[in-house]
Amino acid sequence: MSKKKRIYLSSPHMTGREQDYIREAFDLNWIAPLGNHVDGFEQEMAEYVGVKHAAAVISGTAAIHLALRLLEVEPGDRVFCSSLTFVASANPILYEKAEPVFIDSEPDTWNMAPAALERALRDAAETDNLPKAVIVVNLYGQSAKMKELADLCESYDVPMIEDAAESLGSEYHGRKSGSFGTFGIFSFNGNKIITTSGGGMLTSNDEAMIKKARFLSTQAKDPSLHYQHSELGFNYRMSNIVAGIGRAQLEAIDRRVQQRRNVFHRYQEAVGDINGIDFMPEFSGTLSNRWLTALTVDPEKTGADRTAIIEALGEEKIEARPVWKPLHQQPLFEEYSYYPFQEKHSVSDELFEYGMCLPSGSNMKEEDQERVISRIQAVLRKKYKQRFQ
Ligand SMILES: *Cc1c(COP(=O)(O)O)cnc(C)c1O
Repeated sequence: MSKKKRIYLSSPHMTGREQDYIREAFDLNWIAPLGNHVDGFEQEMAEYVGVKHAAAVISGTAAIHLALRLLEVEPGDRVFCSSLTFVASANPILYEKAEPVFIDSEPDTWNMAPAALERALRDAAETDNLPKAVIVVNLYGQSAKMKELADLCESYDVPMIEDAAESLGSEYHGRKSGSFGTFGIFSFNGNKIITTSGGGMLTSNDEAMIKKARFLSTQAKDPSLHYQHSELGFNYRMSNIVAGIGRAQLEAIDRRVQQRRNVFHRYQEAVGDINGIDFMPEFSGTLSNRWLTALTVDPEKTGADRTAIIEALGEEKIEARPVWKPLHQQPLFEEYSYYPFQEKHSVSDELFEYGMCLPSGSNMKEEDQERVISRIQAVLRKKYKQRFQ
């Protein structure tokens, strides 16, 4: 029993080509800071996502922070943000001492509800307090309703930042995720669909903005022989070694999307018919990379709750997690306002109460996934029997 290997939620999956890129950087002694791989990775990412420009940085969080700086978010300004997301989506709002306002999800995509965003924008316009930006997250690889959300942002003339940290390779009506906002941001953290061990990318069609992002991410050095600075900068630039890993990882992205989708389909086939188990939907017209397979467990119908399942998996050294705790519920953000899906109906609260994520790595072996599936089936069978005896 104790010999069983641990199964992770999402672990790094190397292609074997990473070493070639790193070796090339070593051979040229192009270790740091910048170099051919940084330029190459930026161009390849921009091309893949379908935008004109990209700036490689040290994390997805840094990319969001730069986007807010470029949009001139200042202390006291408001920024709207999806509530059902990882804390990194909103932390940069606080870095700038701005005020986050959280927007709920809707059931079709689990992402930002256009109806809730509309109410929030209308209220803001009435009090002459429109946000400087709206951060829209594409949760677990599922695109938000980009057309509706972008139309709303446009009608109030508020720029949209698309947090595509979890949705590289996903699509919305045939267009790649991360290409819809004024900015897109991506993450190459260790658990994402591709990883550079840590890293991020800011994308945009606005060349001046991306040039400015590169400037700000290298300490905002003015062009002069001596060290001259007129603006506050950051040390956010990606190194040439890290970018080399990224280039190799990006070569495999379409395969990784297919592999993660296959993992999802196997779960769906195995437990999708059970009454009370509902997988995160793939909304019509979208393609999800299924970064993590997410589902809800109805305790009434199944006799089990998601926590019991997570614990039972944990006993078998299988890592599963609740879905993100909505940010409006986090102690860190308790003083900020929140717009639920409907006045008295909060979708993200329900998804957090019943939702969980299963191990979904593209390198997970079928026999490992079988272990996960049979454990879930065993828990549900047992609970179901107990309940109806
Ligand atoms: C991972 C993640 C980030 C942050 O990316 P880092 O590279 O870890 O800084 C931001 N937003 C979401 C939704 C994420 O999942």
